[in-house]
Amino acid sequence: VAEHLRALGERYRAISRTPQLRATLELEDPSTLRFLAEALQRQHVAAAIAFVDDTGAVLAASGDAELRAHASAIEGERLFATPSDPRLYAAVRVPLDARGRTVGSLVAFEAIEPTRLASWSELCGATISLAPDTGDRSARGQRGEGRLVETIHELEGARLVASSGLDAERAAVRNARDELIRAGAAALGVSILACFALARSIVRPIEEIREAVDDIRRGDLSREIRSRRGDEIGDVARGIDRMTRDLQVSRRELDRRIEELDRSETHLANAQRIARISSFEVDLQSGIVSGSKEFLHLMGLDGETEPSKLTPRNLLGRVHPVDRPAVARTVNECIDTGIAARMDHRIIVAGGERVMHTQLEIVGGDGDRPRSLEGTVQDVTDRRRIEKQIEFLAYHDSLTGLGNRLHFKERLEIEIKQARRQRQRIGVLVLDLDHFKRVNDTLGPSVGDKLLQVAADRIIAAVRRSSSFAQVLDPAEDASLSRLGGDEFILMLPNLRDPSTAAPIAQRILDGLAEPMVLGGHELVVSASIGIASWPQDGEDIDTLMRNADSAMYHAKSSGRNTYRFYEQSMNAAALSRLETESLLRRAIEEDTLEVHYQPRVCLESGRTLGFEALCRWNEPSLGPVPPGEFIPIAEQTGLIVPLGRNVIQRACRQAAAWERGGGFDGRISVNVSARQFHAADVAQEVANAIAEAGVDPLRLEIEVTESVILHDEDHVIDVLHRIREMGVTIAMDDFGTGYSSLGYLRRLPLDVIKIDMTFVRGIARSPEDAALARAIIAMADALGLSVVAEGVESQEQFDLLRAWGCDEMQGFLVSGAVPPEEAEAFLRR
Ligand code: C2E
Ligand code: CA
Ligand code: CA
Repeated sequence: VAEHLRALGERYRAISRTPQLRATLELEDPSTLRFLAEALQRQHVAAAIAFVDDTGAVLAASGDAELRAHASAIEGERLFATPSDPRLYAAVRVPLDARGRTVGSLVAFEAIEPTRLASWSELCGATISLAPDTGDRSARGQRGEGRLVETIHELEGARLVASSGLDAERAAVRNARDELIRAGAAALGVSILACFALARSIVRPIEEIREAVDDIRRGDLSREIRSRRGDEIGDVARGIDRMTRDLQVSRRELDRRIEELDRSETHLANAQRIARISSFEVDLQSGIVSGSKEFLHLMGLDGETEPSKLTPRNLLGRVHPVDRPAVARTVNECIDTGIAARMDHRIIVAGGERVMHTQLEIVGGDGDRPRSLEGTVQDVTDRRRIEKQIEFLAYHDSLTGLGNRLHFKERLEIEIKQARRQRQRIGVLVLDLDHFKRVNDTLGPSVGDKLLQVAADRIIAAVRRSSSFAQVLDPAEDASLSRLGGDEFILMLPNLRDPSTAAPIAQRILDGLAEPMVLGGHELVVSASIGIASWPQDGEDIDTLMRNADSAMYHAKSSGRNTYRFYEQSMNAAALSRLETESLLRRAIEEDTLEVHYQPRVCLESGRTLGFEALCRWNEPSLGPVPPGEFIPIAEQTGLIVPLGRNVIQRACRQAAAWERGGGFDGRISVNVSARQFHAADVAQEVANAIAEAGVDPLRLEIEVTESVILHDEDHVIDVLHRIREMGVTIAMDDFGTGYSSLGYLRRLPLDVIKIDMTFVRGIARSPEDAALARAIIAMADALGLSVVAEGVESQEQFDLLRAWGCDEMQGFLVSGAVPPEEAEAFLRR
């Protein structure tokens, strides 16, 4: 109500200040004022408008007359009602100022419409209405029947009251109670929901945290809670997440390290396997052995889980019985002294014998760790074998497996030291195979190689054989054979009491080599020349000794090969005078002072002397008689053999002619013709000339050639031999069995006779092999229609055997050596 009145006052005070109103007021013209009042009344839908002067008299007015009459009673703003009028009015009186002085007032009445009353009722919850003033003051605050009435405003003759029914009150209370219950229930529901929500929001995360912790405990670190809560639960969850992330990092790191560890363990195992090295440990308190995988493998304990197999005793049992005491001693020493040890020893495993390199060390025992024996075991079988191989290669000849020059020198040095202490002598034999180069040249290096191998075997066998026959201290026992290179071998005989004891050994070697060998389809017979020197008299130091043995060997060679010679001081002189010998020989040939002696060839069947072999003799006044073994090689080397040989042929022809004429000689004289003669001269022509010159029947002449004759230019030689044979001259193969490939040559060469070399003949009575060979040669010659002469027959036994086997002829000391022609003649008459 007050608000409504205040707004009304404001409005009319605003109107009072308009210039139009003030101007009108200044005019103080009543009709103009009236007009203004009417205009205002219309304009503001007022019930009445009145201008009042300061005495309260109405100057001009418009509207309800009764209301205008009350205009002077109005002060300020107020509600107004009259008993006659049932309507309620809001009245206002505002002062009007003109030129600084108050000229009167404006009074306005505006009706309060029932709609406004209704809105006021609504506003306060009770019915606001205008009641007629009964004058009863007690009516104020009086409670009517079921109604409560409150006077709000007292007006003249009327009251503004607010009335409210109890039912409405009760309904309101009921409403309020229902409202309250609903609200309570809702609140309860909400709070229950809230509780649930709250519970969920607390319990769920805690449950989640518990599950996460369980997962983490199980090792699942992938779990994350990811809480967004800002409270303590969130803090805990985030703390756990942080922890799992840290754990994840550590686990990745751990995984990486484990992987690294695995890798290096694999690498180690591989390295151990490749190097065949292994490690083991023995706890010295408990005796428990543990070892790497490779250790079990090397010890042949693969897949062995039985702890009883892994005991020190058992492992020692794997050691080779010979090495076992030494190994046990080393291990015990290592444990006793604490000093690391290493050793090589053998073990016996399923695969056989292996060589192990074991290193031992004592670890711990200083309080924190129990004392244990730790070590590595490496299989060095292959390495040791390779080392031995390398050593072998450095010291051995790969072809024959014999020691080489270096090996020999080192051995000799050791033996010399020992011999010096024991006052022994050492024999050094240098062996050179005769004519080896020819074999190599004609049959190829592979046959040559094989020959060297067989020769080496034969030499060794011969040395062994001689040792078993030795009666006295055996010099062959510690003999060692080495190959100096080419076809040269060197044999050392330590513990030699007397240098002469080397002779039978040398002879056995020559005998051993003389046995024919079949190589690559060729039957070969090799011989050797051996030089013997002995320590200390033939040289104090190794080099001198070897050089002197070498020079003795050359001496043997020049003595006709297939023989041995001792070194003597004079030998060097002989070598120096070689040139001298050559010039003397040249002169002897020129001056025709050489002689020819004749060795009888006897028929085994009849015992009759069928013929002779012409053998050259040189009796040099300044040198004495020089054996053919010495001067023939010089003659061959210098080419002097050509005039020498021609001379012998001529002499033989003349001798045959003489015997033919004198006593009806119908046999043959055989002459040795060297290979050199075939190449240097026309032997056929020379033979023809000699025959013609002597006037002898060509049937009285025989030519002896050795197999070496066809080693060069075979076709030419065969051609020459054919020409000679066509003359009626007999051709003999000399030294059969000592050459290179006997049977093949026999077929190709135009031959009549073969002469079995004395090296076989010598053995036929005691060696079954020699006997078999001699018999085979005889049978073969018979089959080929050749007659056979056995050379070097020295005993009746040999003679009888050869006769029994069907051999045709023999020559040898049993009957006679080569003798001067006068003596030879006597045989013809026998
Ligand atoms: P060769 O042709 O094999 O001669 C046989 C050799 O054996 C001769 O040695 C002879 O004296 C020897 N001899 C004979 N019977 C026996 C025996 O029962 N026991 C032993 N141990 N030896 C016996 P010589 O006279 O010293 O001749 C050696 C070699 O010299 C001959 O071996 C021959 O190859 C060669 N030669 C000798 N004279 C001539 C020749 O005029 N011209 C050529 N080119 N060479 C000759
Ligand atoms: Ca001969
Ligand atoms: Ca001969």
